[in-house]
Amino acid sequence: MADAPVELPGRLAILPFRNKVLLPGAIVRIRCTNPSSVKLVEQELWQREDKGLIGVLPVHDSEAVGSLLSPGVGSDSGEGGSKATGGSGGESTKQDTKNGKETIHWHNRGVAARALHLSRGVEKPSGRVTYIVVLEGLCRFSVQELSARGSYHVARVSRLDMTKTELELAEQDPDLIALSRQFKATAMELISVLEQKQKTVGRTKVLLETVPVYRLADIFVASFEISFEEQLSMLDSVDLKVRLSKATELVDRHLQSILVAEKITQKVEGQLSKSQKEFLLRQQMRAIKEELGDNDDDEDDVVALERKMQNAGMPANIWKHAQRELRRLRKMQPQQPGYSSSRAYLELLAELPWQKVSEERELDLRAAKESLDRDHYGLTKVKQRIIEYLAVRKLKPDARGPVLCFVGPPGVGKTSLASSIAKALNRKFIRISLGGVKDEADIRGHRRTYIGSMPGRLIDGLKRVSVSNPVMLLDEIDKTGSDVRGDPASALLEVLDPEQNKTFNDHYLNVPFDLSKVIFVATANRMQPIPPPLLDRMEVIELPGYTPEEKLKIAMKHLIPRVLEQHGLSSTYLQIPEAMVKLIIEQYTREAGVRNLERNLAALARAAAVKVAEQDSALRLGKEIQPITTTLLDSRLADGGEVEMEVIPMGQDISNTYENPSPMIVDEAMLEKVLGPPRFDDREAADRVASPGVSVGLVWTSFGGEVQFVEATAMVGKGDLHLTGQLGDVIKESAQLALTWVRARAADLNLSPTSDINLLESRDIHIHFPAGAVPKDGPSAGVTLVTSLVSLFSHRKVRADTAMTGEMTLRGLVLPVGGVKDKVLAAHRYGIKRVILPERNLKDLAEVPAPILSGLEILLVKRIEEVLDHAFEGGCSLRPHSKL
Ligand code: ADP
Repeated sequence: MADAPVELPGRLAILPFRNKVLLPGAIVRIRCTNPSSVKLVEQELWQREDKGLIGVLPVHDSEAVGSLLSPGVGSDSGEGGSKATGGSGGESTKQDTKNGKETIHWHNRGVAARALHLSRGVEKPSGRVTYIVVLEGLCRFSVQELSARGSYHVARVSRLDMTKTELELAEQDPDLIALSRQFKATAMELISVLEQKQKTVGRTKVLLETVPVYRLADIFVASFEISFEEQLSMLDSVDLKVRLSKATELVDRHLQSILVAEKITQKVEGQLSKSQKEFLLRQQMRAIKEELGDNDDDEDDVVALERKMQNAGMPANIWKHAQRELRRLRKMQPQQPGYSSSRAYLELLAELPWQKVSEERELDLRAAKESLDRDHYGLTKVKQRIIEYLAVRKLKPDARGPVLCFVGPPGVGKTSLASSIAKALNRKFIRISLGGVKDEADIRGHRRTYIGSMPGRLIDGLKRVSVSNPVMLLDEIDKTGSDVRGDPASALLEVLDPEQNKTFNDHYLNVPFDLSKVIFVATANRMQPIPPPLLDRMEVIELPGYTPEEKLKIAMKHLIPRVLEQHGLSSTYLQIPEAMVKLIIEQYTREAGVRNLERNLAALARAAAVKVAEQDSALRLGKEIQPITTTLLDSRLADGGEVEMEVIPMGQDISNTYENPSPMIVDEAMLEKVLGPPRFDDREAADRVASPGVSVGLVWTSFGGEVQFVEATAMVGKGDLHLTGQLGDVIKESAQLALTWVRARAADLNLSPTSDINLLESRDIHIHFPAGAVPKDGPSAGVTLVTSLVSLFSHRKVRADTAMTGEMTLRGLVLPVGGVKDKVLAAHRYGIKRVILPERNLKDLAEVPAPILSGLEILLVKRIEEVLDHAFEGGCSLRPHSKL
């Protein structure tokens, strides 16, 4: 920087600055692109050895600006445009035209400048060159005369800034001293304000102390952004005093504007709430991430979500609703409460199969039948009904057929039949468990206003299966109950009603979903708890339990192959002979279905798998050791070839390579070892009825029929009746009734010598139903209770081979009961030989498989006396009844 006055030549080449001013002391970097300025740079600076000075003259293209300024060099400014001129510095080039519209006005004062640095840009294909010039402003001049030299201008100039001696004189002026002090003070203030913001002002401070004040004014002002007019007026302030006071004013104004801006920022910052601040920070973070190319952020997630929603095929009105929700999500912060729930909701909307269906292929009834037969043994009637159902669907695919409901004890194949239907129709299968569902919201979802709200199980299931036409199994539909939280059954009614399920409304989803394409199949253990309106919508197909023979066949044909396969075994490893399966059925399981049987078989397979795996590894080891000694390998190794694996020729059965020479055959010892000692045997009934007071009843539970013992005992007391074993009201009343009947008929039954003796004289009776933890209810234990009491009072044992069921009236009539088939099957399982049944249940025996019936003696009775007669060895001698 030159702080000494410069020698100015009389003529200067003129570089016009469009709407810009170069002040002395300022340094600018300009790119010259305009042909005339390029020419100027080339001739006056680039090609000359001694880089001379050039003049920088502001030009302005509007009359308005011009009129505000001190008049330019009249002739120059007017006719200055006679030649092509252009602006540089501002980089824009404008040809002035003769029509005067874009006349360029030259200012009559400028600044002489020295080129500090010059560089030539790469030549363009068109031959054009550009120059980058770094110019330093040195001193003011005024233009005496402007003329053209080639394509640029030159001017005759005269120096405006003071000479050195003039300056030295002027510096003595007290006014100037005062002014410069004031200027320095203001400048200092500005510097200290700036210092708080940026640390680079140290150098400016140094300037303030070293540079003479007449230069300082220009340098300071040049560093602010001030308007063109202000720049011009600074340029025009030739007088030192004027210049200083103007500069002081400008510096002060700049200072004030910074202070005001700061105040505003502080105020605004104070007003920013925490969330706004977070928002700002997050915006910044997002910008930073974008810069880093780190795209894995929420915004992208939302974009992906939107794309997913677009592809979901929602109906138009739902799409509108979804978009509204998406817009809300976009406005939220991920940390904001409600963001994740809103997101989860949209994910659900995007994932629901609004249109997606699995293609239904042409239904081949023969193939369907074969597949049903292949997967299920027996069940002829059930399979026939399923085929009929499929046939109707084939003829009329949109037929609103009834909903099939398989009713039967666990493990009889209800679920697997339903999945066979799905397979036959080539549809996806989904099981919705309704066991224990007491809340309507489980079916219909919670409203989204609840925290942790979720869609109902049906919508959730559809999301998982991701087609809108699956076969949906409503499992254990009888186990839904109602309480204060609403009635799931009524929601299910809507689901199963073809009129209503087209627009099923899940509270969470809050928009209708079409369930009409879903094929519903239900299962239940019992029919009785299903609410009648629901039952009305369904066609019940009953699956009774299996006979031991059937179980054996199922085990041999289906369960064993499946279990072996599941455990990675085959019959070459493990064989379970029929006799052993029979033993498992008789001694380890006592159930209507085959679930425990399957479990026991799986236990055997697991045990075998461990053994096989152990042997296998030993076998493999042996195989690997062997080839090492073979000459083939030796020679290959000798060749230097790397042998990593042995190549087994095609066609050779690999399994033979590792074949287990002796398959494991399950025997009784293995059964005991794996399954433990037998759990059931035929002697159980005999053991339990070994003392008087115990009788054998048949009851019906959700697991099918069961044998239920009834135990009665007497003790010293006041004639009270105690009942235990988790009994319901009905069964308690049956016990009261039985006791009343026995007491009333005590003399006839030979339990007391005369009818006026109280049987309960100074004694209490206690009746217990074993399996005390299982709740029991129902009237069918009536006859069993009487038998037990008679046995107790008469001290006679009940026959161990006889079981009974039947409701009894106060007068001793035996009324029919339900679940006869299952009860008879249960009796058969327990090894009971004789079954006492109400006569009116005769028709139900038709359902009992013939092989079972043929092995049992069925005793049909009308009155309780007949029951007693059958129940005791040698009959029960009754005195003829006198009163009834
Ligand atoms: P549920 O739904 O009635 O409780 P599952 O359908 O789960 O019973 O059946 C239990 C197991 O028993 C399944 O592995 C099933 O394949 C098998 N199973 C039941 N009945 C038969 C049958 N008749 N033939 C072949 N396998 C059967």
